[in-house]
Amino acid sequence: MAFEIPLADDHRDLRDAVRSLCADFPAEYWRRVDDARAYPEAFVTALTAAGWLSALIPEEYGGSGLGFTEASIILEEINRAGGNSGACHGQMYNMSTLLRAGSAEQKKEYLPKIASGELRIQSMAVTEPTTGSDTTKLKTTAVRKGDRYVVNGQKVWTSRLQHSDYMILLARTTPVDQVRKKSEGLSVFLVDVKAALAGGMTVQPIRNMVNHETNEVFFDDVEVPVENLIGEEGQGFRYILQGLNAERTLIAAECIGDGYWFVDKAVAYGNERKVFGRPIGQNQGIQFPIAQAYANIEAASLMRYKAAWLHDNGKPCGAEANMAKLLAADASWQAANACLQTHGGFGFAAEFDVERKFRETRLYQVAPISSNLILAYLGEHTLGLPRSY
Ligand SMILES: Cc1cc2nc3c(=O)[nH]c(=O)nc-3n(C[C@H](O)[C@H](O)[C@H](O)COP(=O)(O)OP(=O)(O)OC[C@H]3O[C@@H](n4cnc5c(N)ncnc54)[C@H](O)[C@@H]3O)c2cc1C
Repeated sequence: MAFEIPLADDHRDLRDAVRSLCADFPAEYWRRVDDARAYPEAFVTALTAAGWLSALIPEEYGGSGLGFTEASIILEEINRAGGNSGACHGQMYNMSTLLRAGSAEQKKEYLPKIASGELRIQSMAVTEPTTGSDTTKLKTTAVRKGDRYVVNGQKVWTSRLQHSDYMILLARTTPVDQVRKKSEGLSVFLVDVKAALAGGMTVQPIRNMVNHETNEVFFDDVEVPVENLIGEEGQGFRYILQGLNAERTLIAAECIGDGYWFVDKAVAYGNERKVFGRPIGQNQGIQFPIAQAYANIEAASLMRYKAAWLHDNGKPCGAEANMAKLLAADASWQAANACLQTHGGFGFAAEFDVERKFRETRLYQVAPISSNLILAYLGEHTLGLPRSY
């Protein structure tokens, strides 16, 4: 089967359905949530009830069984409507580690509950304060003692933990000096958040630039039952990596949604605002950056579709997923700047929503992977240059 680029009218029903749900959560809703640094609970509940967050769970486990193209469109539409998928995108893709590497019993036990929203698995704890992007050097350990693993260490930027029943945790089960490759000896666990909180895990929220619920997490002899190990011990890094291509493709779609939101907002204001007796959008200095941003978003969207198609068809998509994320994050950031500049001083006023979306889209330059690390990946793995890190 050859790759066909979806046209604007393809997936119309899907786009309309997500748009219609998002229309119940207008700009005032997101502004209020942002202002209060609250969690958009009503929105996440509605999205779950409508089945959009279970898009990637196969029908046999109660999900919608959609592909990555469709899942990406759902997240794109949320951000395009002025919302912030970052509040709940983990619920859509964190379960993919379980789906790919989990045992039949684990899948049967958890996936239907995740699909219905009875269980939230919004959190994935990988990043650590002292090792950052150098993931395989992470220092959190999980040592097997009988029928449990005992976890010690610290994570940082663990998002949505306070709105999760389970968290995906990456920890070292074999010391790095005892493995052939540093990517070996890491394992993935499904951690019951409530049980961990009662048994030695502490959580310290990080106040940050966006309304993103994220935390420092400390593990002090936290016990995790062996049946909560996902897949084979020592192979966890591989499982997480497999999921990252999906995550990057979906995050690219969020950036694309943001990008369209900024362009629409800038066009509307450029047509409406009159200075020197004419619409500001008539000036090339205002018009061209918006047009450039639009072109970049459209191009990034094509790479997103290609990455999603490759993923859906079981083909390698590392380069495309990374490029989609890189191009889309850059395009949305450029659109954000054009939109803010178009609004002049009003771009800074909260009631215009531009400053909120500006902050939200800036994050994608850094998380879930920084642009430099994507370039390093492409340089080494796609172009065959020497490893730069
Ligand atoms: C709001 C937010 C939410 C997040 N949510 C999660 C989450 O849920 N789970 C989770 O595990 N993590 C999460 N993260 C962490 C995120 O994935 C990391 O911040 C990101 O991967 C970068 O790692 P770092 O912050 O440690 O930066 P560092 O690794 O310290 O890097 C700092 C800067 O140096 C650059 N750099 C480092 N090494 C090189 C090199 N060799 N070449 C060129 N440049 C280099 C990086 O690109 C970056 O710009 C979140 C972060 C934020 C801000």
